[in-house]
Amino acid sequence: MSSRRKRRAIIIGGSMSGLFSAAFLRQIGWDADVYERSAVELVGRGAGITTHPELLDALESCGAGITDLGIEVPKRFAIDRNGRITGEKPLRQILTSWDRLQRLLRETIDEAHYHLGWAFERVEQNGSGVRVHFNKGRVEEADLLIGGDGIRSSVRGQVAPELQPQYAGYYIWRGAPEEADLAPKTLKEIFPYFVFYLPPRQEIITYPIAGFNNDLRPGHRRYNFIWYRVADENQLREMNVDRNGVQHDYSVPPPLIRPELIEGMYSDARDIMPEVMLDCVMTMKQPFITPIYDFTADRIVFGRVAMVGDAAANARPHMGFGVAKAGGDAKALARCLDAHDDVDEGLKAYNAERQPIGNIIVKHSRKLGTHMGVNLRTEEDRRMHELLQTDEAMMDWIAVPNFLDAYDIPGRVPGRV
Ligand SMILES: Cc1cc2nc3c(=O)[nH]c(=O)nc-3n(C[C@H](O)[C@H](O)[C@H](O)COP(=O)(O)OP(=O)(O)OC[C@H]3O[C@@H](n4cnc5c(N)ncnc54)[C@H](O)[C@@H]3O)c2cc1C
Repeated sequence: MSSRRKRRAIIIGGSMSGLFSAAFLRQIGWDADVYERSAVELVGRGAGITTHPELLDALESCGAGITDLGIEVPKRFAIDRNGRITGEKPLRQILTSWDRLQRLLRETIDEAHYHLGWAFERVEQNGSGVRVHFNKGRVEEADLLIGGDGIRSSVRGQVAPELQPQYAGYYIWRGAPEEADLAPKTLKEIFPYFVFYLPPRQEIITYPIAGFNNDLRPGHRRYNFIWYRVADENQLREMNVDRNGVQHDYSVPPPLIRPELIEGMYSDARDIMPEVMLDCVMTMKQPFITPIYDFTADRIVFGRVAMVGDAAANARPHMGFGVAKAGGDAKALARCLDAHDDVDEGLKAYNAERQPIGNIIVKHSRKLGTHMGVNLRTEEDRRMHELLQTDEAMMDWIAVPNFLDAYDIPGRVPGRV
């Protein structure tokens, strides 16, 4: 391959899939520059991330490694309204945080190739390359444009505007209380574990993650808290009005969430939560709302534009697999480009390999979402909804490793991206 002209990729988005793409492309000898619209380093609001063998494989193989990745829990269990354990399942799993992953991946890229404050505006293609326009009138050229700019991708907005994420009919209250703020009972009974509490049509999931600056010391960690709740489109629109009366399209930035929404959430929590979970709710410093959307795509390559991660296809977060998928897309893209002298042939191979996998992942997430009892359209949806009404079933299906083994995916090696 050494006789090849050195090729260049422009990558939009400086988060998980953008950084994975740069790391894997560099390994095959490409120049890769990442352009992130945020003018400041990205931070993840303490969001927890479930890991999977595929994510560990992607981190190791791209050179980021898994040093101090997170906290290992020995098991998962479910509790009832009184805090009594209703079922348990031994399952060793490493729980990490978005911030830790960002830091590990960020270290794989040279400062000179990571550009903050560059917002993608549009791309022109001429069949053998791309000319990319950014804010402030800046223009860059390359052999390939990679859209790693997330679920609301503006790259996808240009090449496939018809692909719009669909609201799932439910949203999440999220937060990460500090270990030091939690009551001794909470620390003893649930903090070291992956815990489920499943009132009707709701889902509460908690697990420990590192503290600020990846602090893994006891006493300095945080507890990831996720509470799924149903809301129709109208209710969501109403929740998306901020404290200044401004209507937002998708979600309200955490500091602008209306105080009465937070008060209402506290009040509902008092009505239904076991004491240890209520403790988590009441100690979260800045609870925030994430509405759940998803979409599938018929293709993920558009000429010399390739989509990766959430921008390519976005699953609901029930499997906690989004970052693993981002790593898998990036690795496959580099492998396919390396295997073909012709860039377009490489992209064709990438599309053939990853487009179906992206859709399988999204469809699997919809199955798990039937637990919430929203938009049950088919007999299969209703059957799945029934199946997921027990604590045992939820522990068997939600955020478990190796769920892709149930699908016949040509060429896939279990545990590898
Ligand atoms: C509630 C919830 C829980 C989750 N839990 C897990 C979990 O446990 N495990 C897991 O693996 N995944 C989880 N995920 C999914 C995971 O967070 C995503 O899959 C992952 O962050 C996707 O990475 P990405 O780089 O593709 O997109 P993003 O992280 O969305 O990054 C896109 C980047 O592109 C930038 N950008 C956007 N537009 C432009 C532009 N025009 N120009 C330049 N830059 C731009 C953005 O600023 C952003 O930095 C969860 C998601 C949610 C919502």
